[in-house]
Amino acid sequence: MKSKQIYLDSHASTPVDQDILSSMLPFFTEFYGNGNHKAGWKTTSAIENARFQVSNLIGAKPSEITFTSGATEAINMALLGLAKANKSEKNHIVTQNTEHKAVLQCINALKEQGYKITMLKVDKVGRIKIEELKKAVTNKTLVVAIMLANNEIGTTQPIEDIGNICKSKGAKFFCDITQGLGWFPLNMKTLNIDLAALTAHKFYGPKGIGTLYIKKTNPRIVIEPILFGGGQENGIRPGTSNVPAIVGLGKACELLQINAEEQFHRISNLRNRLQKQLFASIDGIKLNGCPVNRHPGNLNISIPSISGEKLKGLLSNVMFSTSSACSSSSSKPSHVLSAINDDETIIASSFRLGINKYNTNKEIDFVAQKIIQLAKINN
Ligand code: PLP
Repeated sequence: MKSKQIYLDSHASTPVDQDILSSMLPFFTEFYGNGNHKAGWKTTSAIENARFQVSNLIGAKPSEITFTSGATEAINMALLGLAKANKSEKNHIVTQNTEHKAVLQCINALKEQGYKITMLKVDKVGRIKIEELKKAVTNKTLVVAIMLANNEIGTTQPIEDIGNICKSKGAKFFCDITQGLGWFPLNMKTLNIDLAALTAHKFYGPKGIGTLYIKKTNPRIVIEPILFGGGQENGIRPGTSNVPAIVGLGKACELLQINAEEQFHRISNLRNRLQKQLFASIDGIKLNGCPVNRHPGNLNISIPSISGEKLKGLLSNVMFSTSSACSSSSSKPSHVLSAINDDETIIASSFRLGINKYNTNKEIDFVAQKIIQLAKINN
C-alpha cells in the first residue's frame, strides 16, 4: 500500500470504465465517417443510440438531448441562450451562492446585460431555504438556476419542491445535475426541470462530452445558439460531433442506469466507513455540508489542528482536493465553504474526499488511519 496512489478526488473526475473505453475505440479507427454515405450513417446511428441511452437515464425523450463539450458548455448554452431568446418582460434570475462557477459566471455576465439577480444564501449545511425561494420567484423571473448536488460539500437540494415553485410562477427551472446523477430520482417527465446540464467524466465516461437537456413543451422553450457553424445538434450546438465521446457518454449512462442502486450503497458504505473512523478519533473534526441530504461519495471535513494544504503535502500518495478542482487555480478561499462558514480556520482546514466505485475498504482504512495519525501529531 506504501507507494500505491489512492485516488479520492472523484468529484473532479473519475477514471474511464474499461467497458466504456471499449465501446468508444471502434469509433476512432473503424467507424469514423462523417457525411451522407454508408460510413456516415453508421456514426449517425451510433449518435442516435447514445441520445437514447442518455435520455433513458433521466426519463427524457431522445429529442430533448443535445450533445455538448461538457456541463460548462451546456450551462452557458442554457443560461445565455435562454436570455438571448427572451423577448418577454422577464428580467430577473434567481440562483444560490453555492452554484458551480460556470453558473455564477454566466449569471454575472447576464447581470452586466441588465438582468436583476437574486442570489439566495444557503443555510449552514448548504441547503436552499425553500420559503426564501418562494418569495424570490415572481412573474418577472426568467429562470431559476439551482443544482442537484454540490461539487464541494455534496449537499443535495429539494429539486421537486424547486420545480413546483418555478412552475407555479411561470419561471424556467435550470438544474445542473452534473454531480449525483443517477443516484437520485431524476425523471424529467415528472419533475418540473426545464433545462439540465451533465458531463460524462463524473461517472466513468470520457472528458469533453456532456449534454444539455431541454424539455419539449408547448409553447417551446427557445434557446438561441451561442455558437454558429454547421447545423449539427438542431443548429443549437454546431460543430462536427465527437462520435467516440458521444458513444462513451451513452454507454456511461447505460451502465449507470443498470448499476446505480448497487453503486449508491457501495460508495455510501465506503464514505460512511471513512467518516466513522475519522470522527471517532479526531477531536474537533467538523463535517462541511449536510449530514442527511448528500452525495453518497462526498466527505468534506475540517480538522482545525491541520490545514488542508498541509495535510495534502503530508499525504502525497493520496489524491484529494482542498477545494473544488475547478477553482483550484484560484488562491481565494472556496465560495462554497465561505457560504456555509464564517470561521476562517474551518475553511482553511477543509478538504474533500470523493469516493468512486473502484475504491476499496482497504484503501479507505489506510487513508483513515493516516489522517488520524497526522491529526494527532499536529494537535
Ligand atoms: N457543474 C458541476 C457541479 C461540476 O462539478 C462541474 C465540474 O467540475 C461542472 C459543472 C463542469 O463540468 P465540465 O468541466 O465537464 O464542463
